[in-house]
Order: sequence, then C-alpha cells, then structure tokens
Amino acid sequence: MGETLSGKKVAGEVIPELTAECRKLLDRGLTPKLTIVRFGANPDDLFYEKGARKTCGQVGIVVEARELPSDADTAALLKVVDELNADPSVHGILMMQPFPKQIDVQAVRNRIAPAKDVDGMSPFNEAKVYENDPTGFPPCTPTAVMEILKNYKIDLKGKKAVVIGRSTVVGKPVAMLLLGEHATVTVCHSRTADLAMEARQGDILVAAIGRAKMITGDFVKPGAVVIDVGINVDENGKMCGDVDFDSAAPVAGMITPVPGGVGSVTTTVLAKHVLKAAAAQAR
Ligand code: NAP
Repeated sequence: MGETLSGKKVAGEVIPELTAECRKLLDRGLTPKLTIVRFGANPDDLFYEKGARKTCGQVGIVVEARELPSDADTAALLKVVDELNADPSVHGILMMQPFPKQIDVQAVRNRIAPAKDVDGMSPFNEAKVYENDPTGFPPCTPTAVMEILKNYKIDLKGKKAVVIGRSTVVGKPVAMLLLGEHATVTVCHSRTADLAMEARQGDILVAAIGRAKMITGDFVKPGAVVIDVGINVDENGKMCGDVDFDSAAPVAGMITPVPGGVGSVTTTVLAKHVLKAAAAQAR
C-alpha cells in the first residue's frame, strides 16, 4: 500500500512559518490584505472562501470579499478590479472562477495588476511560470502540488512526470513547474491515444481531469507518486478525486487522498502568495 501524502501535514508545517513571516510585516506596520472577488454566493465559492479565511486568519492576513451580482457585466467587474489595483491597502486579489458566461475573461486577465495577482491569472504571471521566474505568482493549485512534492522531498530531477489535463489553471502550469524542477514531462488530455499506457510511464502521475475516480490502478506505474488534483462528487454524494484511491493506492508508492491532499495546501499557498505580494509592494 502506498504511503499517503498528507496535504494537512504539509499545511500544518507551512502555516507556522507563514505566521512568523506575517508577524514581521505586522511589526513593520504593514497589514497584509487579500480581497476575494466573486459573483453571487454559490456554495463552491463560499466553501473555498471559508477555507481561505481560515488559513489567512491563522497566519494574520486580513481577508475581505467583494460580491458582485451574478448578472454583473465585464465593465462592472473591471471597475472593481481598477479600484482594488489602485487601493494600497489591498495586497492580493483572488477572483473566484469560473466566471459567469457574460464575462470577458481575457479582459479581466489583462486588467488585474500582476503584483496583486496572487492566483496567477494575468498573462504576465503566466509568462513567468514559463520562464521559470520565481518572482511571479503561479496559480495556487499547481503550486500546492509542488509544495507537497517538496515537503515530502520527492526528487524530480530526471524523473518521468505525466500530467493528465491541460487547463490553463492546473494542467499546463503544473507541467511547467515540474519541468522547472528538471522532470521529463508528458501532458495528456482527452485526445491522448492510449491514456493508460502514457500514464503508466510516470514516476510522478498528476491527475487534473475533473472526472470522478477515472484513474484506476491500471493507470499507475508500480511505486509511482500519484497526485490527485481532482475535486468531484461520487455516486454517493461524497467528495472524491480523479483517482480511484482504492485501486491506485496498492500500486502507488505514494498517493494524495481527496479530501486531505492538494486541496488542503491550496489556501496555504494563497496565504504565502499574499505575504510575498505584500512584502514586494512595501519595498
Ligand atoms: P478543466 O478545465 O475541465 O480541464 C480538464 C482537463 O482534463 C482538460 O485538459 C481535458 O482535456 C482533460 N480531460 C477531460 N476528460 C478527459 C479524459 N477522459 N481523458 C483524458 N483527459 C481528459 O479542469 P481543471 O480546472 O483543470 O480542473 C481539473 C480538476 O481539478 C477538477 O476536478 C477540478 O475540480 C480540480 N481542481 C482542484 C483544485 C484544488 O484546489 N484541489 C483547484 C482547481 C481545480 P481537453 O483539454 O482535451 O478537453
């Protein structure tokens, strides 16, 4: 049975470090602040916001939320973005996604100040991921994957990493971050010809698909490190990942659970990014 990689353990170790870092900023008279922007109050967004508030609160970061009506248009959102960009008391801006259909996502990505873009949505921060430039903000979820690998001292150099999923928020950035750590990376997607065969090449297998329990033990190389980014609901209404833990864990060397894996580290990364943004803006 593979060792469980606990996101809770990782978060538990990082939060005291962030709290100490935040204390230094507070002692300098700087109160780090995150503003969350969301449309309406859908339960997924509120769940994430609750987690962000809890983690940031533990660290000492102030969190406020700006709620727009669900039918607000792009101009209304850009007005809020402009206000937050110009407000020196706001150090980080987190936009809840996906946006409603009427929103021009590209316009928002282009407008958010890169220095406050703590979830890495602007093209500027995207480019820094591709350039392996540590001064940027990669999106929080892929960074959480890397935090877990780092915390468990998993050597990536020269290892084969297979990422399933090529979205802008998870698959592509996690592939770039793995490449930055000298893994040899394959990115799979819905048109990949033989997904199980490709997946079985991975010493590291990252699943970011959005399909409940799709990755069974047949997709896993014996001894591989399996990172499950998925957040789904199974047939019994229970939260589950993209990996079928029960069949994959006996084959894997190490594996993240859902819940308690990547999702537990995402808000810790968010807090880390807000502190980094606040410190950089205070210079
Ligand atoms: P997404 O935008 O829907 O992208 C899904 C990716 O999976 C696409 O690239 C798609 O391929 C690929 N895919 C879909 N079906 C497939 C199949 N049958 N075989 C192979 N590839 C397939 O999703 P996302 O935003 O990246 O999110 C992925 C998962 O991570 C979701 O479960 C989401 O809830 C979760 N998530 C978790 C966190 C966290 O904090 N843990 C944060 C964000 C997202 P194509 O490109 O070819 O369509």
